[in-house]
Amino acid sequence: MATILVTGGAGYVGSHCCLALKRAGHDVVVYDNLFNGHERFVKWGAFERGDIRDKTRLTEVFVRHNPDAVLHCAALIEVGESVKYPDRFYDNNVTGALVLLDVMREQGVGAFVFSSTCATYGEPQRLPMDETHPQLPVSPYGWTKLMIERASRDIAAAYGLKFAHLRYFNAAGACPDEGIGERHEPETHAIPLALFTLLGRREGFKIFGQDWDTRDGSCLRDYVHTLDLADAHVRAVERLLGGGASLAANLGTGDGVTVLELLAAIERVTGKRVPASPAPRRDGDAPALVADTALVKRELGWTAQRSIDQIIADAWRWHADVEPQLFV
Ligand code: UDP
Repeated sequence: MATILVTGGAGYVGSHCCLALKRAGHDVVVYDNLFNGHERFVKWGAFERGDIRDKTRLTEVFVRHNPDAVLHCAALIEVGESVKYPDRFYDNNVTGALVLLDVMREQGVGAFVFSSTCATYGEPQRLPMDETHPQLPVSPYGWTKLMIERASRDIAAAYGLKFAHLRYFNAAGACPDEGIGERHEPETHAIPLALFTLLGRREGFKIFGQDWDTRDGSCLRDYVHTLDLADAHVRAVERLLGGGASLAANLGTGDGVTVLELLAAIERVTGKRVPASPAPRRDGDAPALVADTALVKRELGWTAQRSIDQIIADAWRWHADVEPQLFV
């Protein structure tokens, strides 16, 4: 049993990680500025409100809780916003993470599990994408994540830090039974937006491009359930604390689902048809992103357990039943 400081633990993936860490018997401390996080998602450990750029506050929290490892999820994540306001992204995601790494070094905390992304790969040069795929991001968001992969790798070489870079593909789903799920402002992701149309929260769903070079012309993505992601984080933390080597690993299912297949799955699961219409391609979208999952299976013994139907069923229960009760 260890104490894990989870930055961004009040956020979407972070809160699922806290739940999974607690279920695995660890103590959790959430550090979150509540800029995008939700205090009601903090249920599995102490809450310390603060910003990762605030070194004094961060140091105080480290001294108080003496964590064994850090799981770093706090970040700005919206790709389009990163193009508009790159300075905010570099400040938060890069400066903030460097402050965090500095405090970890000063306080002697040697295990860093980092919420990274397949966006660090940029345009896919081959599919599925394995961890040796060139990393050439196409958005400031992707660059901020890649910079911290690089920085933590160099810091590891210099000071003996251990890291796990976890490159998520499309995080999706929820854990409605525990009262946590996706809630972004503004929402830009395909699954919640499609479900919102069924709840009368949006007029219609736009299919961004149907002329891509994929099996049905719409974009292909690798959707992975947040509870599966959380399980991988627990394994990564335990590996580093158990003396295992650093690693960079994809977190995906290895199976792609197109936007049209997603809409069909939503109809299958909810019994309702999403009102959808064709729209032009969205700037910056890649035609297909699918993880090669061999490394994570070998190194962490992890494979995603939950299907796209399970993802949609949980997201649907979250948005239709639970979220409206929690956020009136
Ligand atoms: N998408 C869409 N309509 C929407 C939102 C998304 O067709 O209103 C498509 C988008 O082009 C992409 C896929 O759905 O191919 C997943 O998009 P999302 O924003 O959820 O995740 P991303 O892959 O961009 O991280």
